[in-house]
Amino acid sequence: MGLLSEGSPLSWEETKALADHVRKHGIQQFINQFKRLKSRKRDYLYWGDEVEYMLVKFDRERKTAKLSLRASDVLHELQKAEKQNPQSHPTTWRPEYAAYMVEGTPGKPYGGLMAHFNLVEANMRLRRTEIKKCLAEDEFPLALTCFPRLGCPGFSSPDTTPTPEAGASRSLFFADEVIFQGHPRFRTLTRNIRQRRGKKVAINIPVFKDKYTPDPFVEDLTQYGDTGEGATGSKPDHIYMDCMGFGMGCSCLQVTFQACHIEEARNLYDQLTPLCPIMLALSAASPVYRGYLSDNDTRWTVIAQSVDDRTEEEMGLKPLEKDRFVINKSRYDSVDSYLSSSAYSDIELVYDKDLYKDLINGGIDDLLAKHVAHLFIRDPVSLFSEKVNQNDEVDTDHFENIQSTNWQTMRFKPPPPDSNIGWRVEFRPMEVQLTDFENAAFTTFMVLMTRVILTFGLKFIIPLTKVDENLKRSFKRDAVLEQKFYFRKDILTDCSPPEAEDAVIQCCDGGKKCNIQDQYTQLSINDIIHGKEDFPGLLPLIENYMDMVEIDVDTRCTIKQYLNLISCRAKGKLKTTARWIRDFVQSHPDYKQDSLVSESINYDLLLKCAQISEGTQSDDTLLPSTVDTKTSDEIPSAILKEQKLMCNNCP
Ligand code: GLU
Ligand code: MG
Repeated sequence: MGLLSEGSPLSWEETKALADHVRKHGIQQFINQFKRLKSRKRDYLYWGDEVEYMLVKFDRERKTAKLSLRASDVLHELQKAEKQNPQSHPTTWRPEYAAYMVEGTPGKPYGGLMAHFNLVEANMRLRRTEIKKCLAEDEFPLALTCFPRLGCPGFSSPDTTPTPEAGASRSLFFADEVIFQGHPRFRTLTRNIRQRRGKKVAINIPVFKDKYTPDPFVEDLTQYGDTGEGATGSKPDHIYMDCMGFGMGCSCLQVTFQACHIEEARNLYDQLTPLCPIMLALSAASPVYRGYLSDNDTRWTVIAQSVDDRTEEEMGLKPLEKDRFVINKSRYDSVDSYLSSSAYSDIELVYDKDLYKDLINGGIDDLLAKHVAHLFIRDPVSLFSEKVNQNDEVDTDHFENIQSTNWQTMRFKPPPPDSNIGWRVEFRPMEVQLTDFENAAFTTFMVLMTRVILTFGLKFIIPLTKVDENLKRSFKRDAVLEQKFYFRKDILTDCSPPEAEDAVIQCCDGGKKCNIQDQYTQLSINDIIHGKEDFPGLLPLIENYMDMVEIDVDTRCTIKQYLNLISCRAKGKLKTTARWIRDFVQSHPDYKQDSLVSESINYDLLLKCAQISEGTQSDDTLLPSTVDTKTSDEIPSAILKEQKLMCNNCP
């Protein structure tokens, strides 16, 4: 989850006092990096996935499934092999927010061969095997977006007791020991977000109203020790949660792409932005929070609310006196401006005008300067005393400090100092799936989308207010089938660069003018994925692309199965993980139609999840009945020789 500087964390007051210092030097560091690296070209299409796993402990006698807080020890073991062999170890392990989470990535990024798609699932499988080696017999690694009973009494092993009067989060439900303890960043972020906001975060998610769900649904929070803040912060008919852990304790699947050069990275950032809500809805996997069925299917807004450190002034609830800006979103939220064109950036961008000037004077163009100056309206929320004074010529910690605590649907990533890594973009919205097969499928689909976007010059951009409206729709129960989404009508039309601030843009089809409003329509996800009448569809475009490139038989067979999964989910022939979990809960004999996911339901559900991820049980409402990919640990040498490296059509 971002920058892991070593050292002693400063208090919130000390951090706040140094906020301008961090911002000023962060901007300088970005300018210096930009100058050095703006002309970097000919980088290969490298890409990689990140999967966040949860450690779950099953007690078969008591029929309980709890989160095992052993990530620190497990990580220590996992990293041993990597440390011994940093150049060639096939996996990389990093801590995540919670003491029950670990994050795994491939040891090396995948490269520009089609055959690399055949490695993804095998590497994910290897990661699971590696975790399992570090676990006890009753523990299991689950790729679960949200643990259904997170924050319910007794949800962790060992048991923990929340301390509402003291500590970092002061949650009624989530003890500080559940935060990863092996690095101070996570505790510090939790404390500072609360202190900056001036009170605890208040997460409210609509409850799913079943036949016997109390109406109105209002919980008595005094039973958890609430002395008023919970009563004020919670809304009727909502599931209330009160700390960062409920959000950042959720897992996801992220994919990072390296571009050939900075312009290509900016284009990819823009074209992938409208796909974020679509992929969030397609990958929906989290319908249960703090033991209640919710009316949302995804984690997104839970995390957004869980790190919302804005003060009342910043939220526009009080006139600005101490703070500098009214800010429309949390630090974890959607993209506010495009990087390659301004015509579709119709959200009024809040940005730091002084830092913007510094960026312009440093040679950064208007759009990129606004993007960075927008990220930099935020304060640093963790700072280490050893890192306060830096050499802006070589260090980038202050830049990364603010950059890595802006958790947007997409992230634009400059090359790290002293590395051979190029300009990258990170696709961040997808929910993690139970099986390696599904996670490999979603990863592959997204990487192929980048290939198709670049090869066919596809344009997906629509006004950002419409992308935001789509994101709101994508949270909802069964959004994949029930909602329509604003989508660009003619994704193949290559529009000439629109004039900034001009609502009328030139289209290249016959040179006729068209309004931005005429460029998009509302489509179902099924239409977006499969196409209809005059809309080509993402899957047919991917198939066209696959017909153009060299692919070995095994890789083609594997990819075909991945695309079939995406197709079936979009059509509703297979359930999303969220729908599957809902149905499991609602048809469980212990379910009382009151929205409550009891300990026994949780146990049976997670056991089933573990069996499905192991492949010892299947469910053909969730997964295709025959999954038999040809994934392998290595690319056969004959294929390595045969296939040509793809360098993103570099000029
Ligand atoms: N776990 C977070 C999520 O589900 C992401 C944390 C990260 O940036 O790695 O979106
Ligand atoms: Mg992560």
